[in-house]
Amino acid sequence: MSAVVLPGATLGVMGGGQLGRMFVHAAQQMGYFTAVLDPDTASPAGLVAHYHIQSDYVDEQGLAQLMQRSAAITTEFENVPAAALVTLEAHRPVAPGAQAVAICQDRALEKAHFGRCGVPCAPHAVIETAEQLAAVDAALLPGILKTARLGYDGKGQVTVKTPEDLAAAWTQLGRVPCVLEQRLDLAFEVSVIVARNAQGEVVHFPVQRNLHRDGILAVTTVPAPEVGPELQAQAVGAAESLAASMHYVGVLCVEFFVLRDGRLVANEMAPRPHNSGHYTLDACDVSQFELQVRAMTGLPLVSPRLHSPAVMLNLLGDLWFDDAGRTREPAWAEVLALPGVHLHLYGKLNARAGRKMGHLTVTGSTPAQVQDVAQRCAELLG
Ligand code: ADP
Ligand code: MG
Repeated sequence: MSAVVLPGATLGVMGGGQLGRMFVHAAQQMGYFTAVLDPDTASPAGLVAHYHIQSDYVDEQGLAQLMQRSAAITTEFENVPAAALVTLEAHRPVAPGAQAVAICQDRALEKAHFGRCGVPCAPHAVIETAEQLAAVDAALLPGILKTARLGYDGKGQVTVKTPEDLAAAWTQLGRVPCVLEQRLDLAFEVSVIVARNAQGEVVHFPVQRNLHRDGILAVTTVPAPEVGPELQAQAVGAAESLAASMHYVGVLCVEFFVLRDGRLVANEMAPRPHNSGHYTLDACDVSQFELQVRAMTGLPLVSPRLHSPAVMLNLLGDLWFDDAGRTREPAWAEVLALPGVHLHLYGKLNARAGRKMGHLTVTGSTPAQVQDVAQRCAELLG
């Protein structure tokens, strides 16, 4: 592996969304220059980077410009075409690498990887052909049919109860490769974020609890009150072994289900910082974005310390509309009058229902106090 990329160099990122924006902020704080490749003229990360290369992700000229600018390159969303990362990898250190990203962007490959590492996941079947559809074991129903690729925030998923539902759902999803998962009886959901460098050093954040609404992350709580030391160790151990066996370099998030019988089951991986780790900016002494910078540049990793309990609330575009559908400005002044509230807005120009516009992290001296303030915030914004 190459030498350490020191501050003063330029770091490149594929993708200009909010994760790229917060990565750019972290890199700039540490004295790096930044280059973002994203086709959108007003992408959140493109707006704050030193260089915005406005091109498609597979455009050769765009990729050439990114390589010319950057001493090392990372990505901020898992649907970056793996082929583009292969091109970049031939000339620059790219973290995470194309192979790891390819696994994380395909639910069938991802589940196979869970299997290789002995990490339990939901009973499932891969459906790529009509024969496979017809042969599905009825014990997997009721289930959720998910497209193998390109799903996010609950998109590309259909709940199915009967074999007839399943056939209709596969047609509805365009008969693309899918994974059918048994619907599990969830007690709650958690995730864990690890960072790993090329030397194989690995560090992790505490396990956080996630609450989803309509398939979109709504609230993250840390420390997760229900997660004892055993579950914590199991989740961290699984994430570390999943990362190591992909020779992963960068920040990796693994989402898990905790079943009513107490079992921990892996759901999916994200090859990048994750929405459930946004609290690390305000509640930890090193954030997931700083660890992404450290991992990709070969700088030392350090174990992050949670210095405050935290609750993170996602701010979706819905908050910019009243009940009658008229646009409004959320009650920022009232919310910011409360103690320990940190507002992060991503600079997106147009609010739309379900669009991630920003998040709030509440920090404080005790979990109960943080819960109270977060509850107040939700009421003021709701
Ligand atoms: P996405 O890529 O959209 O985040 P996920 O596979 O994580 O897709 O599914 C989104 C949410 O749907 C999960 O966080 C969970 O709440 C619910 N869900 C997904 N799969 C299952 C399952 N097999 N059983 C029960 N709930 C599920
Ligand atoms: Mg998910």
